[in-house]
Amino acid sequence: MSRSCPSNYRDMLAVLTTMHAQGVCHCSDTTLGRELVLIVDRDNSLEFMGYDASPETNFAHAIVPGFDEAMAFAERVKFPEHGLIVMGCGDDQRAPEILPRKDVTDREMLESAVQEACRRCGTAFAETNMHAHRNPTRMAAIKRATTDFVRRFYSRCPECDYLGFNATERVPGLLCAWRGKPTRVVITEILGCRSCGHRSEQSVCDQTTADPGQCDECNPECSVSMERIL
Ligand SMILES: [Zn+2]
Ligand SMILES: [Zn+2]
Repeated sequence: MSRSCPSNYRDMLAVLTTMHAQGVCHCSDTTLGRELVLIVDRDNSLEFMGYDASPETNFAHAIVPGFDEAMAFAERVKFPEHGLIVMGCGDDQRAPEILPRKDVTDREMLESAVQEACRRCGTAFAETNMHAHRNPTRMAAIKRATTDFVRRFYSRCPECDYLGFNATERVPGLLCAWRGKPTRVVITEILGCRSCGHRSEQSVCDQTTADPGQCDECNPECSVSMERIL
């Protein structure tokens, strides 16, 4: 019997998950925000995902000695449209057990939280609220990840027309421009069908050699940093 196409998930047991992570690429000093939108169809043992990675993130923190410094930080991270979390501070580290104010959304709340934390600890630890409902930058990234999800979901197998014909494997190994050794830069993607097993290969690289900045041997520091991100 042929497998039914999961074209409508309204009535199916599916789990929608969104995930968020941050990483810092030290070679370019860029903070990356990553979003993953995932639907797990338990009945059919299928997963469909969408992904977004962008340097557009307000992920940041600051240790502040008073309200003026807190406001300066807040403005940099697009407060009050974006929420903040304020807590105590000990040994220049966040101390969430002291006064955690997890949902600071206006100037008055920020002032009272920072003053209270400074009174108890000397300084306050302020950080951006990365919960999606308090972070419009994340909302925009989740929208992009969801668009990616829809594109992947509706991509169909050329053999059997089943949904979700996408990359199941990425083949790295583009040669470094300096030393000619294989790098982790992906050359081709293998697309696979989960219904009939059809596979095809597509080139995803328009360069003939890899930038030495992306090479483990020529730029090991960058590679280690990127490993933490990816
Ligand atoms: Zn197929
Ligand atoms: Zn190299």
